[in-house]
Amino acid sequence: MTISSFHPPVRTLMGPGPSDVNPRVLEAMARPTIGHLDPAFVGMMDETKTLLKYAFQTENKLTMPVSAPGSAGMETCFANLVEPGDKVIVCQNGVFGGRMKENVERCGGEAIMVLDDWGKPVDPDKLETALAENSDAKIVAFVHAETSTGAISDAQVLVSLAHKYDCLTIVDAVTSLGGSPLKVDKWEIDAIYSGTQKCLSCTPGISPVSFNERAIEKIQNRKTKVQSWFMDLNLVMDYWGDGGSRSYHHTAPINALYGLHESLVILQEEGLENAWARHDNNHQALKAGVEAMGLSFFVDEADRLPQLNAIQFPEGTDEAKVRSELLNRYSLEIGAGLGPMAGKIWRIGLMGFASNQKNVLNCLGALDAVLTDMGADINSGKAVNAAMASYSS
Ligand SMILES: *Cc1c(COP(=O)(O)O)cnc(C)c1O
Repeated sequence: MTISSFHPPVRTLMGPGPSDVNPRVLEAMARPTIGHLDPAFVGMMDETKTLLKYAFQTENKLTMPVSAPGSAGMETCFANLVEPGDKVIVCQNGVFGGRMKENVERCGGEAIMVLDDWGKPVDPDKLETALAENSDAKIVAFVHAETSTGAISDAQVLVSLAHKYDCLTIVDAVTSLGGSPLKVDKWEIDAIYSGTQKCLSCTPGISPVSFNERAIEKIQNRKTKVQSWFMDLNLVMDYWGDGGSRSYHHTAPINALYGLHESLVILQEEGLENAWARHDNNHQALKAGVEAMGLSFFVDEADRLPQLNAIQFPEGTDEAKVRSELLNRYSLEIGAGLGPMAGKIWRIGLMGFASNQKNVLNCLGALDAVLTDMGADINSGKAVNAAMASYSS
């Protein structure tokens, strides 16, 4: 058998990630590979750090991309900050908070869980109760934008509560970075991780992280070595650090980093505030269309993420068939529910480059057509007009 080159179909990616990659990013990634200690590459690394600081709104010196996906950024934060025996308060209101608990326990820490219903933001009062009851807790961890439900939590309030009780904070900003307002320094977030494949419009596989001085101090004063050699920031800092020795740690994913650099240049050109406003504007149009169709949102309006729309469908709908029809007929991917939300919601992503008028109108029109053909109980033929009205209002 002869296996030939792989040519993926061209899709529109409107799920929970990966999202559509900006063609400029793909073009940048096709540029010649150079050595990872080549001065030209080192110059690009410095620019990438500067651009990441802008995206995160931070002056943190330890701001860099981890050479692995968002999950590895998560693990980098926990592996470095949690020492065996440390009590960590983990707020969970979806899938990703559960992974934080796993991380704490695998680092030998004790996770104190603050649970909120899926689809709701993290409740600051519950966090404060847990902080008051656990005065020996060292860290508070939570997800800013829960991709599994489409709910956003008030990071600034949660961080200030944690600090009031002398805890450091670890914040998951995988889906929020570039899509929703996020201000690392102003909100005094101590450790944060994100991903390239959601609102940065870059390919999957890189995780931007940032640590402030308080977090670095905890890492440098550990009594035990970080269990993971690869993620030990004491070692990685020598490679990525300012004026560091640039000594070999691992071979950086050169071309993937060209892509990240380009995606951050694009973000800088647009301006963060404009990117946030674009995500919101397209969300409003999608919302108008979804509601005109007679479908409803899973999350209360005040807590909704513009970049991740969790939609409830009509009773009795074969939701998996709808998604496969969208993929087969329109080459359009939307997301299924994750974990306990499987079979209950669709997750329509409007992330990064994918957050545009064409995608909103295309998705609403395609969903309308598929649901109408399947005989679903919706208001047919109304969604696209409602979205257009939202754009012109
Ligand atoms: C996608 C996501 C992750 C994991 O990122 P990967 O790149 O898939 O490893 C972590 N947290 C949240 C909130 C996410 O949406």
